[in-house]
Amino acid sequence: MTRILVVEDEQDLGDLLAYNLGAAGHQVQLARTGAAALAKLREDPPQLVLLDLMLPDISGAEVARLIRAEPATARVPIIIVTARGEEADRVRGLELGADDYVVKPFSVKELLLRVKAVLRRFEGAPATAQLHAGPIELDDDRHEVKVNGARVVLTALEFKLLRTFLERPGRVQTRETLLSDVWGIDAEVTTRTVDTHIKRLREKLGAAGDALETIRGVGYKLGG
Ligand code: CA
Repeated sequence: MTRILVVEDEQDLGDLLAYNLGAAGHQVQLARTGAAALAKLREDPPQLVLLDLMLPDISGAEVARLIRAEPATARVPIIIVTARGEEADRVRGLELGADDYVVKPFSVKELLLRVKAVLRRFEGAPATAQLHAGPIELDDDRHEVKVNGARVVLTALEFKLLRTFLERPGRVQTRETLLSDVWGIDAEVTTRTVDTHIKRLREKLGAAGDALETIRGVGYKLGG
């Protein structure tokens, strides 16, 4: 059984998809807006997302971008649902990391086949993204951080911040780079926010947190 999140604002289509995916043995959650989708994604990350591009609030493309930006959902396969004529949106969605798309109107049978194909592709995918630095281990797939083998609970943002450092060991990251790469360019936060989060991350990592060095007047670096 696969947990599938269906993001679709058209009442009938949403119900139809939920019903048929459920009948095919999947566990389905239905979100009618982008905001509802994001809330459900955070609550209980699904194993596949069926994403309508034209939503009443946030665009489907933006939802796709946020799914990819969040460590807990970065690898969840996405199938985009578009109407004819939404070519530009579809391209944008695929650029943002969607795995497949279906064009409305589509048959339920076609959609179920797509879902099956995408899931099959992902089943065989190797577990990746294990990052290490000294006693710190980060497992992207499990969304887990350990220090000396003991689990450390981080917020989604702290996790992303740590992953950014682990991906770039020994390289100085300016506050501006961190703001853009971890918070996203649209984030309305100041560089002080970076300092606050680094401080909290260090505290959670205990002695291992000393590896996050302050480079005065510039930013931070993962040393060790
Ligand atoms: Ca729609």
